Amino acid sequence: MSRIIFGEVMVELSQTSEGLYRQGFAGDTYNTAIYLKRLSPEQQVSYLTAVGEDNLSDQLVSRMQQEGLDTRMVYRMQDKTLGLYMISTDSQGERSFSYWRSDSAARSTLALLAQDSGQEQLEDCQSFYFSGISLGILSDADKEGLLMLVAKLRQRGCQIIFDPNYRPRLWRNVEQARAWTDRAYELADLAFPGTDDHLALYGHGNGLDIIRHVQGLGVSEIVLKSGEKGIQVVSPQQHCIVPVFRVENVVDTTAAGDAFNGGYMAARFCGYSPREAAQQGARIAAKVIGFAGAIIDIA
Ligand code: ADP
Repeated sequence: MSRIIFGEVMVELSQTSEGLYRQGFAGDTYNTAIYLKRLSPEQQVSYLTAVGEDNLSDQLVSRMQQEGLDTRMVYRMQDKTLGLYMISTDSQGERSFSYWRSDSAARSTLALLAQDSGQEQLEDCQSFYFSGISLGILSDADKEGLLMLVAKLRQRGCQIIFDPNYRPRLWRNVEQARAWTDRAYELADLAFPGTDDHLALYGHGNGLDIIRHVQGLGVSEIVLKSGEKGIQVVSPQQHCIVPVFRVENVVDTTAAGDAFNGGYMAARFCGYSPREAAQQGARIAAKVIGFAGAIIDIA
């Protein structure tokens, strides 16, 4: 039985105070996979993506294996490699992100998956998690392919989990992003909308509009994240508002939402209630925002 997480892992270069760059690996669904696996080591968490055959890609695969992720669905491409992003800081301390990801191996994941006759993990997959970023990096034909796969898995009883994670630069325009995000929501059993994303994507100005929209698309378990304002959960089992943990010194909110999702799923997969799961998500997210970087030691 496996928990499949689909997306792209990039090389991350972040500027240090000495002006040098530190190299790591990160990506929204990858961050979630790592936190999920650390918090529920008994789950088989399988990451689905494509990487190159170069040294950096080898380093990433070793890193994933050290974290205990199942890498049998990490496909290799001879003529491509990982996408890259750099985080630089200006003289006022403002961080900005620059990306080189338009030709990454991960964009070909669907084609490579289609050529793989094995796919055992898909056969007995209990849950499949993806995001608006996983969808946004694909060609339109591969977006269709992904949603067809998701629909097929769902029919077989696999739980579909989606975070819209809206990144405007991955889409031709907001209408395109909205149309595909709606289609992904329509297939999801559990979803993690965020207030900032919904304001930018749909113009939703309050939680009620968001919940109505996502419920209207048939999602039964909705976990609405609103930064420091708290979490709202609407599920058949429970409706509740969960406060976040107070963080005195917010250092870096990158990956707060990714870590939250990992914490939430880990608790739900172990049988905890939506409220308990949101508490665990908030606890992990509060730790992550107290330190620089997407992946921190949460022990
Ligand atoms: P996303 O990045 O998905 O939009 P949010 O910004 O809402 O998500 O953050 C995700 C979670 O991180 C929140 O639900 C909350 O638990 C935690 N979080 C974010 N900002 C803060 C903060 N300032 N103080 C405490 N917790 C926070």
